[in-house]
Amino acid sequence: MNIPQLHELFLKSSGISTDTRKIKDDSIFFALKGENFNANEFAAEALQKGAAYAVIDEHLEENNRFIKVEDSLKALQELAAFHRKYLKVPVLALTGSNGKTTTKELFNAVLSKKYRTVATPGNLNNHIGVPLTLLSMNRETELGIVEMGANHQKEISFLCNIALPDFGYITNFGKAHLEGFGGVEGVIKGKKELYQHLKSSDKMLFLNLDDPLQKEEQNYKKTFTFGNTTEADLKIELTSRDSFAGIKAENQEITGNLTGAYNSTNMAAAYAVGTYFKVPTEEIKKALEDYLPQNNRSQIILKDNRKIIMDAYNANPSSMAAALDNLSRMDMSPKIAILGDMFELGAMAAAEHEELTENYQKSHVDKVFLIGSNFAATSVKSKKVRKFATFEEFRAWYQPSEFNRGVILIKGSRGMALERVLELL
Ligand code: ATP
Ligand code: MG
Repeated sequence: MNIPQLHELFLKSSGISTDTRKIKDDSIFFALKGENFNANEFAAEALQKGAAYAVIDEHLEENNRFIKVEDSLKALQELAAFHRKYLKVPVLALTGSNGKTTTKELFNAVLSKKYRTVATPGNLNNHIGVPLTLLSMNRETELGIVEMGANHQKEISFLCNIALPDFGYITNFGKAHLEGFGGVEGVIKGKKELYQHLKSSDKMLFLNLDDPLQKEEQNYKKTFTFGNTTEADLKIELTSRDSFAGIKAENQEITGNLTGAYNSTNMAAAYAVGTYFKVPTEEIKKALEDYLPQNNRSQIILKDNRKIIMDAYNANPSSMAAALDNLSRMDMSPKIAILGDMFELGAMAAAEHEELTENYQKSHVDKVFLIGSNFAATSVKSKKVRKFATFEEFRAWYQPSEFNRGVILIKGSRGMALERVLELL
């Protein structure tokens, strides 16, 4: 079966399923392979549970509802690319080292005020998530908002060839996935693959002129720029009120529910995108004010007179530095940081953890608790700092009196699961 034929079946189906625990009736099941599973083994079960067809890439017993292809993942990606061209829905893609999901959610909050949008669900931003996002668009969809993640070169380019974005935005160029990209220069090159795809005159870039690396790109054919400069198409100032991120644009002040200066930037991008797409200003304002963060990302929790900044969703050197900077500007004391190891740094791991401990010693943070083997291996010796090799060690030591007042930042890589700290506090 070729892709146009598969697409015919797809249009008659209820959508795509990839997980036998969540089979939609009349959907098409794609048997994908992962490190620890081979879904060809579950293809028959998927049909029993209601899938109309199962796309498989291994030899299985005869069944007229099996669709045998060379490679199920490739078929999924090609089907998505075909569907995207078939629908001709404009696509806005975003990538960056940090803040993709938050910015994507803000874009969607703003743009869905005026358009029927389909946005990447959660964090499904990879070679499977991007196709699935595109395949969830239908004839009703007016605008697709697609988050693209990458941890090595050519990945963004690959995803762009599937999603064919018309509009693009890069949140920032930071120290994330240094291991796969080969340093910061590699990160910049890898992310800018999105710009390469938007070079033709019918496509457009959103640029934040406050970011020198984005400012460099002003010579593109079509751009819509924002930032705290009159040079920008839209002048937006970043503000904050009681440590909540906010912006000031066109004489409007907007304060959101997110913390951290970087979230002011994310809000500014969403304001700019909304303005470009002609969402009424009142509606943009309302969307940004109403947005509530989810999944332990930049969330503020008030508990027994303490302010807890829950940012345990993930961490890398740039987002860690931004979060500590934000903490040291808070007007509450003491300022306490509970930090977990940063992963995926490869050969840079020791140096990056070391650098971070040097930085915060100079900052206004009063107490620091470091959790994880990387942090435990740093040379830092200070009365302000306590190191624990594991979370279990921290839990065994835990003393409530150390945490009974002030403002507390909790941040670490996903694998550290520092949301566990909240249960102690
Ligand atoms: P992932 O790589 O997991 O998809 P992401 O890029 O989608 O991450 P978010 O989940 O939105 O990013 O945010 C993760 C963290 O990045 C936030 O909690 C915050 O600490 C930091 N962050 C958010 N926005 C920015 C930004 N514009 N610049 C720097 N750091 C940011
Ligand atoms: Mg994300």
